[in-house]
Parts: sequence; C-alpha cells; structure tokens
Amino acid sequence: MSSITTAFALHDPALLRQQVYVDGQWTPGDGPALPVIDPATGVPLGEVDTLSPAAVERAIDAAERALPAWRALPARKRGQKLERWRTLIVEHADDLARIMTLEQGKPLAEARGEVLSGAAFAKWYAEEGQRVYGEIIPAPQDDKRLLVFREAVGVCAAITPWNFPHSMIVRKTAPALAAGCTVVLKPAESTPFSALALAELAHRAGIPAGVFNVVLGEPSAIGKVFAAHPAVRKLSFTGSIRIGRLLLAQAAEQVQKVTLELGGNAPFIVFDDADLDAAVDDAIIAKFRNAGQVCVAVNRIFVHEKLFPRFVERFTAAASALKVGNGLDAGTQVGPLINQAALERVRELVEDAKAHGADILTGGKPLAQGGGFFFEPTVITRAPVDARIVGEEIFGPVVSIHSFADDAEALRLANATDYGLASYFYTRDYRRLFHIAEGLQFGMVAVNTPTIAAESSPFGGIKTSGIGREGARHGIEDYLEYKTVWVGDL
Ligand code: NAP
Repeated sequence: MSSITTAFALHDPALLRQQVYVDGQWTPGDGPALPVIDPATGVPLGEVDTLSPAAVERAIDAAERALPAWRALPARKRGQKLERWRTLIVEHADDLARIMTLEQGKPLAEARGEVLSGAAFAKWYAEEGQRVYGEIIPAPQDDKRLLVFREAVGVCAAITPWNFPHSMIVRKTAPALAAGCTVVLKPAESTPFSALALAELAHRAGIPAGVFNVVLGEPSAIGKVFAAHPAVRKLSFTGSIRIGRLLLAQAAEQVQKVTLELGGNAPFIVFDDADLDAAVDDAIIAKFRNAGQVCVAVNRIFVHEKLFPRFVERFTAAASALKVGNGLDAGTQVGPLINQAALERVRELVEDAKAHGADILTGGKPLAQGGGFFFEPTVITRAPVDARIVGEEIFGPVVSIHSFADDAEALRLANATDYGLASYFYTRDYRRLFHIAEGLQFGMVAVNTPTIAAESSPFGGIKTSGIGREGARHGIEDYLEYKTVWVGDL
C-alpha cells in the first residue's frame, strides 16, 4: 500500500481508505495507482487503487448477485440500514469535512455543511422508500382486476463529479438503495477519499456485501463497462454536458434508464423594486460558494438599469473583500479551483472577455498563494453576449453583470442559453413572482433567496442541463419501474 500524508489527522483514521470497495470487501486494485492532490497546496495527499475494466465487470457481477436479497427486504429494513448510515455520517461529520477540504479545497464550514446536507438525503430516502405505493386501477371488465406494482430497476451505475464529492453520492445512492436497487459507484478521480470514506461507513452500517460498491479507474473504460454490462439497468450521472451526452449515447445500446444532472448557466435578475442589500449579499453567496464550482452557481447577473450603478459598486466591493485561501484556515471564504487546468480555463474566459472589450472591475487573474490553484474573485461588466463568459458555464469565482430596461428584456437575456438548470430573481412585486417564474426556462427558480437545494426539493434541469430529478419524492422515481398486472377469471 502506498503512503498517505499525515495532513488528514483524522479522529478516526480508518475512514481513510486507499483500496476500492467491492462485494463488501476492501479490494486491492489491478490498475495503476491514482495520485490525489491537495488543490490548496499542489502537494500530493496520497494514492488510491484503480481497477481494470475486467475487475469493474466483477464489481457489477457482485451487485447483480446482491440484488435479489436486497430487493426482497421490506422497505422498512432497507430504511433502517440507510438510517444507520446517516447516523454514522453525522457522527463522523468533522472527519468527512476534513477529508473533503483537503482533496477538494472548499472551506471547512462549507464541507461540513455538505456532509450534513448529504446525510439529510439518506434520512429522507430511508423514509421515502416506505412510501413507494402501487395502484389498483378499475378494470374495464368485471371478471378482471388491474394492478400496478412498483419495482426496483435493478443494478444501478452511478458516476459523480468532484465539486460536491459527498452529497452527489448520497443523493444518488440513498434513493437507489431505498428503492431496492444495488449500486456500483465511480466517483471523480480528484476526490476519491470522500467516496471511500462513505463506503467505509456503509460497511459499518451493515449494508450487505455487493449492495454498494465503489470502483475507481480509467473513466471512459468504466463508462463503457457500465453501458455494456447486461445487468446494469440504470445509469445516474452528474457532471459536464459533454460527458453526459456521451454516456446518453452509450446507454442507448442497452436502452438503460438514465438520469443526467449536467451543467448550468444561471441568471440572477435584480428588478427595480428589489431589496438591493439582500440582492447583493445573496448574489455573493450564490456566486462564490465553492469558489463558483457549482452547477447552480450564478453565471450572469442582470440588474435593472435604475439599480445598476449601485448594485455594481456594492457587489464589486463585497467580492473584492472576500478572503481567498486554504479551506482549512479559519476565515477562508473562497478556496482554490480543483486543478491547474480549471485555473487555466477560467483565465482564458477572462482573457476572452477582455478581448471582447469587457471591463474587469476587480480580480481577473490567478493568485500566487501557497502553491495552490487560486483565482481572484472577479467582476466583469460590458461583456458582449458573444463573449465566452456569457455563453459558457464559468465554474470559477468570476461573474459578468449586465443591465436591462424592462421585464421582457430581462427574460429574453436570461433565457438566451441552451442550459436550463438554476435561475434566481429578486423582486417585491407578487405579480412578477409568478410572471417571471413562469417565463424562466429553467428547472429551478429561486425568488429572493440563494437557497435552491434540499432533500425535500426536486433538483434538476431542462434543455441541455439534464434529464430527471434528484431529491424529494421525485428522486426515487428514477430507480423504480412500473409492472402492470392483469388478473382474470374472477
Ligand atoms: P466531468 O468531467 O463530466 O466528470 C464527471 C464524472 O464523469 C467524473 O467522475 C469523471 O471521472 C467521469 N467521466 C469523465 N469522462 C468520462 C467518460 N468518458 N465516461 C464515463 N465517465 C467519465 O465533470 P466535472 O468537471 O467532474 O464536474 C463538473 C460538471 O458537473 C459541471 O458541468 C457541473 O455543472 C456539473 N454538475 C452538475 C450538477 C447537477 O446536479 N446538475 C451537480 C454538480 C456538478 P474522472 O473524475 O475520473 O475524470
């Protein structure tokens, strides 16, 4: 086993796993070891094992073997295991947060918040699994009965990103397990330690062998195995639109059920009757949490021309006052980007905006600090609509602000994107609340709040931002099939 840094300094060092978790066992890899880097320092944290495609197939075989017994358990018993998993997650929240901050970079308080919000999904689905109801439909003939059963889809493959390395996993795994499915998860290669710690806690919670498996390895090869293995009946993916499209095409081969949670290009609209202070404070949160590496992060701010100068002045002052640094340091508000490539991409977007004649009001460049991948909180105005910063998901601490004259123009600008995940607007007019919420072409709309996700809320996008929903009662639907049963000769 390769070495691992002492920087983790966990209360429970056994949470730090370097092998993969297959069929209830910590299993050595048969592929090349994968280094994990601290994005705040650029220093390696340690290595994790990876699997060959043939070994990933064996993990799916294990999930297939575990399926009949798990599916046959009463939902209440599956819920009890999930509830135990949740309890352990909460008990180990400090360690899980520390692991996350070290491998992902977000401030410790944000990491802890993510752990607890992930745990809330486990609790929700421990209960929701017991409310999977079938139907009895009035039959068209009196000697017959017509019933609809709800059944677990089967073995589910899950692929998750690095930006929420904990909650994205629980958000998929909890409804799948609650429904009676078994899961093979491939987490992001930048943040495997969070996923492996979750597997350790699932093991301790008594989730049976083969029911939840975590594999690591070459992503495209694993994606192909997931698509080709006949036991996999569902793929749930959170990540970029590019990879989402690829996986959707691959899933066509076996007509697998697919959930896709993809990227966003969220507008944040401030109408002329908005509470300006609240709009500024909330836009700072909705833009800069997790250094802007959030699918629902604000990408474009549109402010009514009457408020535009005051909003820009206050927002720019607040952005430039944000404390950028190592997420482990007290007081850090904005951590590093995930890696050098992410930093370069954000730099390119800003350079492109400049080349298009935009003004950089604060920030605009990488921040040489402690060897990490830091970028200054950046505010841009006068970016034309054909600048990349306006059309693409930024995924960094950068935002462009634009003005508008009336509601129709605000809606036109906000909707002028292929993405359709999150949107935000600020108003005190109840009529606008409905007209604008109805007019925005996004899967989620937040009005006078930066809050847009919780276990009780259906989360997901329209247009190229995805297919399906996670959270709420809707989130378990994608892990269930209908079975129609006719009974005759009565
Ligand atoms: P990504 O590059 O698409 O990677 C996501 C996952 O897919 C990772 O586990 C990655 O593995 C894996 N992957 C990469 N290539 C693959 C392939 N050919 N076949 C199978 N799997 C493959 O996205 P990311 O940069 O990690 O995440 C950021 C994106 O996720 C953003 O667009 C963001 O908006 C989106 N996101 C959406 C939501 C939502 O709920 N809508 C939530 C969070 C994030 P490796 O890490 O090993 O490369």
